[in-house]
Amino acid sequence: MPNKPQILFGKDVSLAIKADLKIRIAKLEAQGIKPGLAAVLVGEDPASQVYVRSKERQSAKLGFNSNVLRLAMETSQAELLQLVSQLNNDDLVHGILVQLPLPDHIDSQLIIESINPDKDVDGFHPVSVGRLVLGLDGFVSCTPAGILEIIRFYNIKTSGKHVVIVGRSNIVGKPLANLMLQKSELGNATVTLVHTRTPDMGYHTRQADIIVAAAGVPKFITADMVKEGAVVIDVGINRVDDSTRERGYRLVGDVDYEAVLGKVSAITPVPGGVGPMTIAMLLSNTVKAAENSLK
Ligand code: NAD
Repeated sequence: MPNKPQILFGKDVSLAIKADLKIRIAKLEAQGIKPGLAAVLVGEDPASQVYVRSKERQSAKLGFNSNVLRLAMETSQAELLQLVSQLNNDDLVHGILVQLPLPDHIDSQLIIESINPDKDVDGFHPVSVGRLVLGLDGFVSCTPAGILEIIRFYNIKTSGKHVVIVGRSNIVGKPLANLMLQKSELGNATVTLVHTRTPDMGYHTRQADIIVAAAGVPKFITADMVKEGAVVIDVGINRVDDSTRERGYRLVGDVDYEAVLGKVSAITPVPGGVGPMTIAMLLSNTVKAAENSLK
């Protein structure tokens, strides 16, 4: 039985990443380059607005040339494609992100594929995903990249470990599974990916040395699903009603944190775990794109 679990504070990791980015940004500035990030937000989804504001604030704080393009819900697909094309051709813009979800009348995949892969700082373009699967350098989608940085920072061993990832989304589960099975420093794991059609999920999670929960279901991972001494990484960000809070809700993860705390050797909190890493890695990808523009 582990004595006291280590709390994996993504917030601390993100501060270390940003400190390193400042050095790289200063080098770019010495060469007359300011990392440029264009964020496109269509409509007024409340969660998307919060994310975009946070991305805007943090990129401005690091001295980026950051620009948020807020478009009306009624914006047509053709208009959005036109805007992305303009951004693709703008030399001051090194990274483009189109905040998802997009309204139903717009084909998200078409928009993602219209972004120049050299500016694909979200890492969603098929070129980026393909390079990731092949283990080639490229833009790794931000949440999986952030999870690996937490693993690096806290010196968690992955080689030969059994990692069970819950959730097969294109932005978390699938890319993370591919990263963790690569022949690489933070990979070399045996990876199991479970999802809605997996019978007896607990059978799999109980065998895991490392569990990554990315299902989007509040407190889904309960104590009986976790092996003693496992490392648990909680990606979930779920709003649950809470009348004691001024805003009327609070954020909880996919893991029943209090219940598993006595069993695990390490765990990420929600908030303050994986969340801060996603933006840090977006900033990192944008700096990388700016550096690449010099090559
Ligand atoms: P998604 O809805 O696209 O995918 C969820 C996946 O989980 C699906 O593949 C589904 O098969 C699986 N799943 C859902 N319910 C399940 C169940 N009951 N049993 C087994 N599998 C189940 O979600 P997503 O975009 O990957 O996000 C997942 C969670 O992570 C959400 O809470 C989201 O808010 C959060 N998230 C957090 C960050 C961050 O920065 N921390 C980033 C992205 C997503």
